[in-house]
Amino acid sequence: MARVRDAGIIGAGGAGFPSHIKTGSKAEMVIANGAECEPLAQADQQLMMKHPDKIISGLLLLMDATGASKGVVAVKKRYKASIEGLSGAILGKENIELFLLRDFYPAGDEFVLVHEVTGRVISEGNLPLSEGVVVQNVGTLFNICEAARGIPVTHRHISVLGEVRSPATFRVPVGTSFGDVIAMAGGAKLNEYAMIVGGPVMGKVTFDVSRTVNKTLGMLLVLPKHHPLIALKTRQLTRNIRLIKSACTQCSYCTELCPRYLLGHNLQPHKIMRSLDYGSVASPDIITSAALCSGCGLCETYACVQGLSPRQVNMEIRAELSRKGHRHEPSKNKAKARQEMGHRKVPSERLLRRLGLEAYKEVAPLRETSYAVKQVKIDLSQHIGAPAVPVVEEGDTLRQGDLIADIPAGQLGAKYHASVSGRVQRIDGDEIVIEAA
Ligand code: SF4
Ligand code: SF4
Repeated sequence: MARVRDAGIIGAGGAGFPSHIKTGSKAEMVIANGAECEPLAQADQQLMMKHPDKIISGLLLLMDATGASKGVVAVKKRYKASIEGLSGAILGKENIELFLLRDFYPAGDEFVLVHEVTGRVISEGNLPLSEGVVVQNVGTLFNICEAARGIPVTHRHISVLGEVRSPATFRVPVGTSFGDVIAMAGGAKLNEYAMIVGGPVMGKVTFDVSRTVNKTLGMLLVLPKHHPLIALKTRQLTRNIRLIKSACTQCSYCTELCPRYLLGHNLQPHKIMRSLDYGSVASPDIITSAALCSGCGLCETYACVQGLSPRQVNMEIRAELSRKGHRHEPSKNKAKARQEMGHRKVPSERLLRRLGLEAYKEVAPLRETSYAVKQVKIDLSQHIGAPAVPVVEEGDTLRQGDLIADIPAGQLGAKYHASVSGRVQRIDGDEIVIEAA
């Protein structure tokens, strides 16, 4: 689908993989991922409530492109209003069905989701396509529907929650600053605060309100600067390693609750933590198995009673392996989900309590009215692949939707478009700043 490439669509669920690659695959089934499993997240739910027809149109287009005979919309049972909208949108479409998920974390992880919907397990180092499935986030399907009408990705639905006066979900131009979206939500209630960019479990902390909304960001959570979750997420790696060496009891809860371990993958974070102390005698396979970690964060935010962070260690090992060009040799055996998987799913409510975020459990209704922003800063490397190459110059006048950066020849990448009408103020490395007209 050339239109998906031309519209600059990347996975809206967080990873930012260029979507035209998936549309070029051949599959039996397309799963629309509406699980939105991060606690408090609701931008996708709002989208499914307000625009179910566009999501189903996007799903049908993707089924057509991939040759899939079946479409499944996976959504949590508790998203009643979204289910109502989607049920109406699929009426009479016999090749599409709803799949209702239990409310657990991480139901939206592609590996977990494929297992829930099909019963099939994606083996180590593989993708859903190895099981004949393409998974696409509902926000991406919405964008595919728009692309078919010639509309590129210029806006993003984002929920702004936490310590703000009027939590809500907004449709904002890509490149809007966090300061502007917090102002749209009535402003912060505190003078000093931190922000989690993305969901509370997998998101990263920033204190910088000049950072901007990108095509993959569905949530900004404003929290007190000294909230325990902020302390956990900003802990330095060296301190975490020191703590693991002195406090890890080898209870193995991190392994027993790890979604990838439960799917039968050979990832046992407690053994990786043990290797920090006895690195010289640990089998290299144990250390490199960190490459199988999805970074879901369940071990650090829920499983570990000592407050340690196996996820952070695994992510660092993954990065180091990739820097050195090493890779973990995935098992050649077909993975089989462990029997205990069924009763080890972590209920989202319990996770929310463990995170200390119950006070922020509120509805963030969708407000699609347009908010004037003075300036947008568009990062040209929001996606997986090579940064996009600017095709505009400083001083150029643009209309919303104009192409501003293209995919470098022969490389994996994504296009970018002006998210507001205005003038190119500056081009700084991988960033284009547009002053709104
Ligand atoms: S859960 Fe924590 S204490 Fe237990 S083995 Fe894992 S890292 Fe160590
Ligand atoms: S972050 Fe922790 S729980 Fe999640 S996959 Fe990695 S090791 Fe397992």
